[in-house]
This record gives sequence, structure tokens and C-alpha cells, in this order.
Amino acid sequence: MELNIKNICAEMPNYGIYKDWQREGEILGIAIHHSETVNRATGASMGSALTFFNYHIKGRGLMHGAYHYVVAGSGEIEYALDEKITAYHAIFDDPSNSMGLEFGQHWNNHYLAICVAGWFSEHRTYRDEQGHVHLIPNNYTIPSEAQWESLVALIQQLRKKYNIRLENVRGHRELAGIHTTCPGHGFDLAELRANLRSLDEGKAKSEPSPTVPLEIKPGEHVLLLPDTDKYLDAAMVYIWKFQPDVSFSIDEARGRWQYVTVVGGQDSISESQLARLRSGGAALVQRISGDPAVVQTTLDELTKSGSRFLKETVTTSPTLLSERTYTVQPGDTLSFIANQMYGNTSQWRVIFEANRDQLVDPGRVHPGQILQIP
Ligand SMILES: [Zn+2]
Repeated sequence: MELNIKNICAEMPNYGIYKDWQREGEILGIAIHHSETVNRATGASMGSALTFFNYHIKGRGLMHGAYHYVVAGSGEIEYALDEKITAYHAIFDDPSNSMGLEFGQHWNNHYLAICVAGWFSEHRTYRDEQGHVHLIPNNYTIPSEAQWESLVALIQQLRKKYNIRLENVRGHRELAGIHTTCPGHGFDLAELRANLRSLDEGKAKSEPSPTVPLEIKPGEHVLLLPDTDKYLDAAMVYIWKFQPDVSFSIDEARGRWQYVTVVGGQDSISESQLARLRSGGAALVQRISGDPAVVQTTLDELTKSGSRFLKETVTTSPTLLSERTYTVQPGDTLSFIANQMYGNTSQWRVIFEANRDQLVDPGRVHPGQILQIP
């Protein structure tokens, strides 16, 4: 869809004062908020970047507004705060830094803030002058279709620009250490990510699969045999026929060969090591696993048919494979990650079992760890 973004950064109050400020830390994610500004009678979305910025400045004493983008109910997008400036959209106290959240600033420093104008919750109340609490009807408990479409397109654009991983697209309430329902109970964040994922997958499918030339020149292809004792015999016929380089060291392979055939299971070489070979420039990284007899059958069949590589995995997209890992953020727990990846906290055990090589205690994950997501 054609994205129509109105750049109003320079029209915001105090712009002249903060325009040259720079954020601390690179952009890793996007946080979604709702504005809680709606028509009192109907619950219809109201408000614009200017109203929010005025409130943040006058009501909260900030120098500028707390959102980079505002998506109105009409689907119109306002770009109100330069992405290079830190938005204070996720303020909270972690004075002892017990959550490793750098005194609560992790989310502000590393996440862009998008505000979806509206109040996406069934229950709204207001207090009248006598202090009585009244229920306010809300007929708009989810974002409008136009709003959702604009939001999805905007997120994809920002993800592409900053190489933002899918799991780092989060609702305000999904930022560790923060107690809020924002962006509202009605806002389905799992559905949002599912939507983004299917866009990623559609794109990956339409990308051409790596083309493997019929002739591989000497030195372009390596057969990696980390578990030599187990598999060397099984691979002999294949090696004799195709004459690939043969290496036992995974660490040396990165950036060295264009085509990599790995023989062995995840116990000898992990998915993330394969991902590292791909990101190191390999056009094709293919694994052949199973017990030696199975591996031998597979390799002998390839030898007989005269093809070096298995057909089906040639089309596997690196983009899709990279979605099967998760980089742990400060404050993350296994159940949080399970909810992010599967929409279900009880799946934490599946992730734990798949990462026993690096996890000892399910209660302990460390920021920066890369977990396999089966
Ligand atoms: Zn929020």
C-alpha cells in the first residue's frame, strides 16, 4: 500500500530547542501505544500529534512529545518527532537496575514509539465533579481498518530501515518492567505480529532462491564434517565424485566458501552457527543429518544423480530461518518469549528444551543470548 506520511516534526512546540538532540543507542525495536483520547459519547478515535505533544509538554513537563509517529483513526500518519531523538514513551523506575534495564531507559533509548489514536478497551470510565465514576460506552475497541493498514505498513517500513526483528515489535504492556494495559486489551499484539510475519514470508517466497550454477569451481564448495569419525566414511563416495574442499572447523568456514554442505545434526553444529555462515556471505548452506547410514544413502543418491545439493533446501529462505531465533532483551523471561513467538506462555518449556545447550535454569536468560525457536 502507498504510505502517506505527513512530516510535521518542525511544526511541533519547542522544536527549535531539541531539533539537534541525538538518541543514545541504536534503534532495536518499535513500541505501540494508544492515546486514550476518544469521543466521550461514542469512544471514536480523537486527537492528533499536536494535542498529544501539547499535553506531554504542559501536563508532564517534557521538552517534546513522547511519540515519533501518530496513526489517526482515518489511517493518516503523522511523523512528529525525529527518529534520531529519544522519545520518553516508557518511563518507569528501576533504581537498583535489578532488571538490567539501565534505570528503565532501555526501551526509550532503543525503541521507536508509535501512538495509535484511540482507546482500545471495552471499559472506560470518567469521574464527574462530585467524584462519581461513570461508565463510558466505547464502540471502538479495536483500531479501524484504515488505521491498522497504515500501522502495519509504517512498521514494515521502519523495520526495513532499521533492520528490526519481528519480536521487537511490541505493545507498551509487553515492555518488561512496565505495568500498563496500553495499547488496550482490545489491541491484539499477537495478531499484529502474525500479520507482519506473513508479509515477511510472502516477500521471502517471491525472492529468487539462491541460484546454484551447474559448475562449481574448485574452492567454492566445502563439505563441513565437524564429527569426522562418525561421518567421513559415509561421505567418501560423494567427496570422490564432487571433490569439494573438506573441513572440520566451522569457525574457519565463515566468509570463506560460497557453498557449504554441513554433515551432522544440531549436536555438532547448531542452527545459529549455520545462520552465521549465511550472514558471512555463503550463498547456500545446506545440512545433511541423520545417522551415518541415512547420511550415506542421501549422499550416495546425490552422487548418482550428479547433483551436489539437495533440491528442497535450496529454496529455503534465509529470512525464514532467521525468524526461528530470538535475541533475548533485558527483562525477558522464557514465558514472555513463548508468548511472543507462539502466543502462549506455556510453550516456554519447548524453547527451554531446544536450548538446553545454553540454558541451565528456565528462570534465567541473559540479554543478548540467541535462542533457537523450534
Ligand atoms: Zn503506552
